[in-house]
This record gives sequence, structure tokens and C-alpha cells, in this order.
Amino acid sequence: MATTAMRAMVLHQANRPLRLEERAVPEPGPGQVLVRVSACGVCRTDLHVCDGELTEPKLPLVPGHEVVGRVAALGAGVERFAEGVRVGVPWLGWTCGSCRFCAAGRENLCEAARFTGYTLDGGYADYMVADQRYCFPLGDGMSDVEAAPLLCAGLIGYRSLRLAGEAEKLGLYGFGAAAHIVAQVARHQGRQVFAFVRPGDRAAKDFARRLGAVWVGDSDETPPEELDAAILYAPVGALVPAALRAVAPGGTVVCAGIHMSDIPSFPYDILWRERKLLSVANLTRRDGEEFLALAPEIPVETQVEALPLEQANEALSRLRDGRLQGAAVLETGS
Ligand SMILES: [Zn+2]
Ligand SMILES: [Zn+2]
Repeated sequence: MATTAMRAMVLHQANRPLRLEERAVPEPGPGQVLVRVSACGVCRTDLHVCDGELTEPKLPLVPGHEVVGRVAALGAGVERFAEGVRVGVPWLGWTCGSCRFCAAGRENLCEAARFTGYTLDGGYADYMVADQRYCFPLGDGMSDVEAAPLLCAGLIGYRSLRLAGEAEKLGLYGFGAAAHIVAQVARHQGRQVFAFVRPGDRAAKDFARRLGAVWVGDSDETPPEELDAAILYAPVGALVPAALRAVAPGGTVVCAGIHMSDIPSFPYDILWRERKLLSVANLTRRDGEEFLALAPEIPVETQVEALPLEQANEALSRLRDGRLQGAAVLETGS
């Protein structure tokens, strides 16, 4: 291989900025591919890792789990991909294949799972290695930068939508990267989207309207009609009782984030009458295959703000402050 050194943005300690470092290009082990990264989305989960809200990252760590790149080298035994093929690398990076969850097709709950950009080095770098079994082939049609948010906001958004059930009137709390994709899928499926944004965030309201929401309001507002389900993308526990109050009897409230502030106590009355409250954890490869097949049919379009890799800290702080519309994506140029 010609290139032996690469750039990476590295987390050494929570609540400290990532450091730009030169590192050796990793070598793919058995069953792994070396991916030359071209784009990596910045997900709210990255923020939870960098801000110390997810407490068990490997350190030092290269974050990033919405990776688009091309296979640059093959480890021993790799047959699934050839060099040069465009692939996506998601959050779920490895599972044991033998625990009771894996055996039951619920690998998202694997007790020994490893996660890209958390317990494995991720895509805030020029190169990364990934287990071939957890990479997705990516078709044409979207640029690398546009495709990156599909890999988590899209996949986990899709899983959260599936777990919301057959809801016709669907509330989305927090209108960022995931909601802007899920709104498109939901409309394609003939659902009505009710968008809830941070109080006073007019830009987010306009964004939700452009994506076809039938109603847009502040997250503390009561929607004009009872909802059949609501999905929470905002990591704000106080929204759980608000969403339970907004859904009809038998309705479902899905918490789609990996971290959320504490949920305040609430009267049993708002859960009563068979309302359901659940969380979504990670993804399965099946979710990814289904969603990546569906996305071009809709076709899903992503709104991205591209920044160079070196500006990962700036991208994270914009996400933290809500100064983004759609998704931030780091571009690894050249
Ligand atoms: Zn397992
Ligand atoms: Zn993510």
C-alpha cells in the first residue's frame, strides 16, 4: 500500500476537544476490510460520547459511525467485497453470533456487541477497518456526503419508525437528522407527520414544513388531533410525559436516542389505556438492508452541511447548540 499515514480526529478524554493526529493506516485483520473514508456523518450519539454521557468509550477513540468510503484493502478471508467498492459502515460493528439475543435475530441487543466510533475506532479519519459482515454495500444515486446520514439517522430512524407500528398520525419530537429522513419515509408510507421542535426554533419549523409535516409546533404544545404514535429524537426526558399525553389510547411512544435526561415522574393515567412506552437500541443488519433498499425508492433526500474532517469539533458544537439543519457530515477530501 502506498499510503502508510493518515489523519484522525481523536478523543482522549470526555469534555475535551478532539485532537487532530497523524496515525498509521490500520491493517485489516482476518474478515476485515480497510475503508478509505470519504464522508462521515456527525451523530448525536457522537456528542453523547464526547460529552461523557456515554461513559464507556474505548480511549483514545476515533468517533464516527455514519461512514461512507471505498474498500481499499482486504484482510484474510474477505470475499464479500472487492477493492474499490463503495460501502457504508454503521454503529453496529460486531456481534458474538451466539448469545441468546443473537440466536433470536435480535443482534441489536447482543451482550458482547461492539460499536463503531465507541468501542471500535470509527470514521473521523482518512481510513478505518471494519468487519466485512457489518458493512453495507451502497448503490449509486447519492453522493458520499449525502449518503452518510443514512447510516445512522436513517437506519435507526427506520427501526424507530417500524417500532412505532402502523400509526397513521405520527409525532416526531426533535426535527434534526433522523426526523428529516423519517418524515420522508413516513409520508411515502401514507402517514401524517406532526413535527415538534424546540420552542421558538423557527428555522426547524420551516424545515419540517418543507418536508411535508401536516402540523408543526413547539414541543410543549398539544397537537390539534390525538396521535397514534410519537417518536422522540430529542434527548429530553421531559418530553416523554408530553408525548404520552399526545398519543391516543393504544398509542406508542418510542424513545429513539441512546441517552436521555431523566424522565420526570408522571401520573399513571397518561400511560393507562394500553399506551406503550419503549426505547430503540442500536440496529440489526436486517434493518440496514431493508432501509437501504427502501431509501432510493422513495427516494430519500438528505440535507447536509459538509465540513472538512479537521472541523469535527466545530460540527459537534453546532449540533450541541442546535445550529444545524439536517445533518453535519465530515468530508475527508482528496
Ligand atoms: Zn450476541
Ligand atoms: Zn448515530
